[in-house]
Amino acid sequence: MKIVNYQSEIRLIHDGFEDALLKNDKKVKCPCCDSIVYFGLYNSESLDVFDERKRTHIVGGIKGLKFIEGEIKEYRYKNSPLRVLKTKCSNGLHNIVVVFTYKETQPARYASYLVGLFDDESLNK
Ligand SMILES: [Zn+2]
Repeated sequence: MKIVNYQSEIRLIHDGFEDALLKNDKKVKCPCCDSIVYFGLYNSESLDVFDERKRTHIVGGIKGLKFIEGEIKEYRYKNSPLRVLKTKCSNGLHNIVVVFTYKETQPARYASYLVGLFDDESLNK
C-alpha cells in the first residue's frame, strides 16, 4: 500500500493562546469515511519519540520538512517541531495519524500548522 498524506495542503490551524489548542477540538475530515477527526495538543506526542518505522513513512510524506542536526536532532517545518496524535475518527472505524507543528511564536502566543493526515494502517507496512 502506498503511503498517502491526505493533507495535501499545509494549513494554519491555530494562532493564539495555548489553551485553545489543548482542547482537541480542531477538526478535519476523515480520509477514509465521511466522519470527522478531532485533534489538538492533548495526548499528542513529539514526532521524535513516535514509532520509528511510522516516523520514516510520515516524514517521507510531508513536503518542506527540514532535518535539524545539532544538539537536538529533529524534523521541523518552518523551524517548528512536529507533534503527532493517533486517534479514531468520529465513526470509530479508522485509526488516523494527525501531524501538526507547535511553536511559541511570541510570549504566550502559539502557532500551529496541520501538515499531515495518514491512515494508520498504511503506516504499518
Ligand atoms: Zn473514518
